[in-house]
Amino acid sequence: AVRVRFAPSPTGHIHVGNVRTALFNYLFARNQKGSFILRIEDTDLERSTLESEKLIYEDLQWLGLDWDEGPIKGGDYGPYKQTERFDIYKKYVQKLLDEGKAYKCFCSKEELEEMKEKALKEGKPPRYNGKCRNLTPQEIEALEKEGKKASIRFKVEDEEVTIYDIIKGEITFKTDAFGDFIIVRPDGTPVYNFVVVIDDALMKITHVIRGDDHLSNTPKQVLIYRALGFEVPKFAHIPMILGPDHSKLSKRHGDTSVNQFREKGYLPEALFNYLALLSWSHPEEKEVLSKEELIEAFSLDRVSKSAAVFDFEKLKWMNGIYIRNKSKEELAKLCVPYLVSSGLVNEAYVEENFDLLADMIESVKDNLELLSDISQYIEVYFKLNTVFDEKAKELLALETSIPVLKTFLSEIEKVDKLDEQIYKSIVKNVQKSTGAKGKSLFMVIRIGVSGLTKGPELDKLVINLGKDEVIKRVKEVLE
Ligand code: GLU
Repeated sequence: AVRVRFAPSPTGHIHVGNVRTALFNYLFARNQKGSFILRIEDTDLERSTLESEKLIYEDLQWLGLDWDEGPIKGGDYGPYKQTERFDIYKKYVQKLLDEGKAYKCFCSKEELEEMKEKALKEGKPPRYNGKCRNLTPQEIEALEKEGKKASIRFKVEDEEVTIYDIIKGEITFKTDAFGDFIIVRPDGTPVYNFVVVIDDALMKITHVIRGDDHLSNTPKQVLIYRALGFEVPKFAHIPMILGPDHSKLSKRHGDTSVNQFREKGYLPEALFNYLALLSWSHPEEKEVLSKEELIEAFSLDRVSKSAAVFDFEKLKWMNGIYIRNKSKEELAKLCVPYLVSSGLVNEAYVEENFDLLADMIESVKDNLELLSDISQYIEVYFKLNTVFDEKAKELLALETSIPVLKTFLSEIEKVDKLDEQIYKSIVKNVQKSTGAKGKSLFMVIRIGVSGLTKGPELDKLVINLGKDEVIKRVKEVLE
């Protein structure tokens, strides 16, 4: 059965690039009826924090990327945090040392620096020169007695390593580009290229799907699989994500971490859908796809070799589509936190006027692309604009405009309350008695009740404002 993993390092919120990797793993696992495993790669003790770990869980859960095995969930191949697996790694380090496939290296930082400079001067790749490869047990003992701390290096012979990548095809690496590499640091912490192999092997990972920034690590990892007699998994390295200017997507380009998208009011369904289309495409080029449809259609052979460009406008557009798919009640619930935090309404107002608020939100739904814009869109319900722009002034200056507003006012004063039917007949009457139609009718009414030339659907605006407020506003505009 297919087993894939997402293996983030807990050093902050998840970046969209990384979460797209998680998404592809998830889609592949669900499509193949396999397992999606979450593993926390926290061997970098200085940069990893528990707080970041929580953020990762939150981000993944929000996006709907539920894992089958991993922290919180558990599973048969745990623990799923690397810092809880140090004993396991030690065993394999010892095995490599015992078999002469790795060795202790006592070279100082200065020595290594010198080696590197020398190699660079000679135009060679900066690799370790093998100085400690053949230390005798006596020499090692003596050095350790002096209190010297050793790193552990993996022995690399000059050869070619060929990997088959599902996305990139066959790639051959020459090992002399890197030479003997460190698998355990002098402080005893094992390094990524080593632990990732142990974990992927012991967790029975069948497909390693990750960003292609890890491609150059792959030959090192393959050598370790081979040295330990583990089966090498299949690899699929996904191309990176670029910003609109075609440089690597980064903070400079705007929002790039999952929580920023959440805070701005992107819906998880929209982000999920959008991210799936970064370097993957539907066989029929469909774009708006539900989670179920994506799972159904996903395959690694439709992942493209070329980098994807992150299109913020397209994501917004897609978010608008998902917003319009929400029911009135759902959308209102999603918008309330934004309305409260912007200060447009308070909790008590929400409590008392939830249905009205939901109607207000509904009246601007077609234009809304980000939940965080909601206050701006419905502000008009709470405040009449009295600073008219040029367009409003021009419209109000029409010969029919004052009669339109006066008739509108008197018609409204006649009714008990407003609803769709009543509103329609009022507008009809205004049209009949003033002869105004089109813009000079509807725009003028809009300006009369809001002071603006744009805004919520007009009938809904008038009805939601209610009779008394409409009267008050039209009078104010007429003054
Ligand atoms: N912890 C690594 C990262 O976040 C995982 C790389 C891998 O998937 O092998 O980049």
